[in-house]
Amino acid sequence: MAKDYYEILGVSKSASGDEIKRAFRKKAHEHHPDKGNGNAEKFKEANEAYQVLSDSEKRQQYDQYGTTFEQAQRNGGGFNYQGGNPFAGFSAGGGSAYGGDFGGFDFGGDLGDIFGDLFGSRQARASRRSRGIDLEMGINVSFKEAVFGTEKNIILEKQDTCKVCQGSGAKPNTKIITCPKCHGQGQIRTQRRTIFGTIASASACDRCDGLGKLPEDPCSACSGMGFKRQEKTLAIKIPAGIDDGQRIRIAGEGEAGYRGSSPGDLYLAVSVAGHSDFKRDGFSLLKELPLSFTQASLGAKILVKTLDGDIELKIPASTQSGTVFRVKEKGVPHLNQPDRRGDLMVTVRVVIPKKLSKKEKELIKQLAQEQGESVEIDESLWNSIKESF
Ligand SMILES: [Zn+2]
Ligand SMILES: [Zn+2]
Repeated sequence: MAKDYYEILGVSKSASGDEIKRAFRKKAHEHHPDKGNGNAEKFKEANEAYQVLSDSEKRQQYDQYGTTFEQAQRNGGGFNYQGGNPFAGFSAGGGSAYGGDFGGFDFGGDLGDIFGDLFGSRQARASRRSRGIDLEMGINVSFKEAVFGTEKNIILEKQDTCKVCQGSGAKPNTKIITCPKCHGQGQIRTQRRTIFGTIASASACDRCDGLGKLPEDPCSACSGMGFKRQEKTLAIKIPAGIDDGQRIRIAGEGEAGYRGSSPGDLYLAVSVAGHSDFKRDGFSLLKELPLSFTQASLGAKILVKTLDGDIELKIPASTQSGTVFRVKEKGVPHLNQPDRRGDLMVTVRVVIPKKLSKKEKELIKQLAQEQGESVEIDESLWNSIKESF
């Protein structure tokens, strides 16, 4: 099962670099193995998550494919979705990282650091409220399509931008006004005096749903939401080298955001069909090649099927069963590096014939005699054994 690094750090998928850094510092402090109640495993996990999410390139790979290429190599070439649901812990709208409902406390400004943390998390919550929901769907591709890449049209029904108001939520030719209740702040602040000092709490404005503005006259097609349930056809590019269980992120193709807020993303979980002649191990293609005893003994030129068409493979004399021949660059292209291709690994299997003609038997007997081997079967003894059953 792939780890959800966002969940490990307790941040949302849209968390900024700063938020990730803060969350990591907090987790590292909490789980540090030098502490009495530390947890080395959790500390390691948080560190691993931070290494990926703090690096924009690795984070992008992780978001798009659920893994980084570095990890893939560490796991022996294969991408590591050993079964399991890659979406576990990947619920629409982000994880439940923030548990309780912080209103954004402010202890009179004395505890600047804590204030910063809580404020950051509150903001993340507010932005998630209006951002469109992420969507997830499965997509099936053939073995060859996964190797070479393809384009597919998919039809999905989703809350998509309202065509009448273009997502603004306002009737055409009417205005968007500043919210009169929160004066455009998007939040209502209240202050209370307690024994700890003054506590200021903020909550999203219920009149404008935290946006600070609202349509004067709501669009009747979408009731002012800015989105409407409708069908959309998307042309999806499946990159060459994608593997079973990986997912593709299509930015902005989730559901539309509330009144023109940013849309969610669409995640496609890729299922790759098997192939009767080939197997895949990371970017290597694996294939078995049956050879007769004579071909393996004397050597032969054999036509071998590859995904790029037939090639001639020269089998040297005295090839043992199980020998692997590497055919360079006839494997799977590396994801996002189509110029780099894996190899085709051909494993020889020497096959013993199921049926022999009289002449063949005779010739093989001669061979055995030549090598001084005893192979004679007593036919009458064999028959009596069979009959006794
Ligand atoms: Zn509308
Ligand atoms: Zn308001």
